[in-house]
Amino acid sequence: MDDDFQKVLVVGLGFRTGLASANFLAKLGKDVTVTDIKTHDELRDIIEKLSSGVKVIAGFQSPSILDEGFDLIVLSPGVPVTIPLIQEALKRDIPVVAEIELAYRYMKGMIIGITGTDGKSTTTSLTGHVLKELGFKAIVGGNIGIPLISLVGETSDDSVAVIELSSFQLETIDSFKPDVSSILNLTPDHLDRYNSMEDYFAAKKRIFKNQGDDDYFIYNADNEYLERDKNLYPPKTLSFSTTNESRDAFFRDNKIWFKREGNYIPVVEAEKLNIIGIHNIQNVMAALLMIFALFDKRGIKIDYDKVAQACYCFKGLEHRMEFAGVIKGRTFVNDSKATTIGAVEMAVKSIKDKGVLIIGGRTKGDDYTRLADVVRGKARAIVLIGESSELFAEIFKDFRCVRATNMEDAVAKALSESCEGDMILLSPACASFDMFSSYDERGKVFKACVKKLSEELN
Ligand code: ADP
Repeated sequence: MDDDFQKVLVVGLGFRTGLASANFLAKLGKDVTVTDIKTHDELRDIIEKLSSGVKVIAGFQSPSILDEGFDLIVLSPGVPVTIPLIQEALKRDIPVVAEIELAYRYMKGMIIGITGTDGKSTTTSLTGHVLKELGFKAIVGGNIGIPLISLVGETSDDSVAVIELSSFQLETIDSFKPDVSSILNLTPDHLDRYNSMEDYFAAKKRIFKNQGDDDYFIYNADNEYLERDKNLYPPKTLSFSTTNESRDAFFRDNKIWFKREGNYIPVVEAEKLNIIGIHNIQNVMAALLMIFALFDKRGIKIDYDKVAQACYCFKGLEHRMEFAGVIKGRTFVNDSKATTIGAVEMAVKSIKDKGVLIIGGRTKGDDYTRLADVVRGKARAIVLIGESSELFAEIFKDFRCVRATNMEDAVAKALSESCEGDMILLSPACASFDMFSSYDERGKVFKACVKKLSEELN
């Protein structure tokens, strides 16, 4: 990249990414300062891991920090561009880039970029998994939890980086240009951070802003927002649908079909997949369309049978529609990562007959009323957890609702509300911070409660 910067400010250290960016830049011989609103004490463990010479401004982020004269600002993913420090930097014309952008400028090889409201991590890992099974050097990172900047050294001319991107990260990309990109879906989310759905969508659409005539863009044609804007997409755009058979990938007779050079090829049998739900059919369609597009771009021949086998041995990720046990003929499913309405909708759709939904936590300012229609006909009862109990009791006033004091209570109450053959689904629609440190802890506690109850009763 053009290396015409020397003095860099990394904003946001409380995240793995800030640490990785600062150390990456220090290794390049840059003059690096990091800043975070957390105090030195709170950041002690991370500060200890910083390379020597990296300066730390902790506990405040006054715009006056900029008086030191920085050439570049690198933003960690959790930091909004709206904070006064960044607004002031933009006023002073200091370039502000996402860590993803910084990484991109030093990376080698091919790039697949994936965004959307839901399914990013699943599709990113699935894509990486299939590529690896096909013998490719796939590198998986980004918003999925491994900062891209820490993977730059692993990239090579023959590697494929499969990168999960959040809308926040996309806000501050500049030259980032994936060979293949995808928006998986778009439903109201993070409206606490965006003024409107259109602003949120605009951030997502930045994923293809630098793509050229040879690059591919893949989208979900079943999503009204994505389909509405189809005329704005790059020339090589492909789409998938679970219903519309005129698309490049579609679902028929329990198989996933692809339209390839005028032929229709049934590549994947849904029953052989280890990941459940119609949303995962969409994720498989997206992953394979992206891989096929990349292969087409590079003139690589596709072995459809190998591709299918690779999909069948993908086990899915923890806390995403994860099987958690069976008690008295009820199947417990851990979907703790479902913090959006769209994810809950898909989870409930995958209940075959009837079930009990465990829902609640810290809300994100979204309009949850839509969930009443989502659960109709599916939820035998709803168990409410967390500080949102009043809100959800009102939304689900036509349903049988039971309040639980903690997760153990929720699991026990869900069991007593259910019938044999039911699915008992933790799909909370909310963040976990009122009861747990993370969705990961929430899911683990749920699984532990199911295990305990199962040992007591089975
Ligand atoms: P993200 O990284 O976008 O948060 P994950 O793969 O981690 O997505 O899944 C988060 C939640 O969304 C889980 O509850 C999962 O079951 C659900 N989900 C996965 N794929 C989709 C999809 N295509 N549409 C809607 N929900 C999905």
